[in-house]
Amino acid sequence: MHRLYENEDITVFWDSEKCRHAKECVHGSPSAFDPMRRPWIDLGRADTAEVWKAIAKCPSGALTCVYNHEIKIRFEEDGSCSAAYHGENKVGECDFRDTPDGWVIYHTEVLPEFGGRGIAKRLVFKIAEEAEKRKINVIPTCSYAVKVLKQPENRDGSD
Ligand code: SF4
Repeated sequence: MHRLYENEDITVFWDSEKCRHAKECVHGSPSAFDPMRRPWIDLGRADTAEVWKAIAKCPSGALTCVYNHEIKIRFEEDGSCSAAYHGENKVGECDFRDTPDGWVIYHTEVLPEFGGRGIAKRLVFKIAEEAEKRKINVIPTCSYAVKVLKQPENRDGSD
């Protein structure tokens, strides 16, 4: 399961398949991370610095985060895409095709001058989250989406 959680400053990515339930996040910021609550992550309950530090301790890579850099991500169903905006300007896009097998993510692109800010990952996660909420299969085919959604990540090999 892929989920995004946002406040004004940061976006938190949650990949449930990578979680080892070590609870470093819960110990680091019990207000923001509460496994008994739904949704279990609430960025409005703790300050960003505390959340960031708690995420940095996640041993599996299940939780990651980036600064938003004033970029908003929107899911645009009519265009079969997620899109990134800086003000009114579109600065990135991730496209999918609705097929009988699921949503095929085939293209992810961010303007070069906006690179290195985690925008592409936010775009891919946005589509994955929308699909999963509707119980639609996600099939990444563009190399970046494959990397984000399929690659195992374990920061230290333990936990
Ligand atoms: S710290 Fe990471 S691995 Fe541990 S419970 Fe939280 S998300 Fe899961």
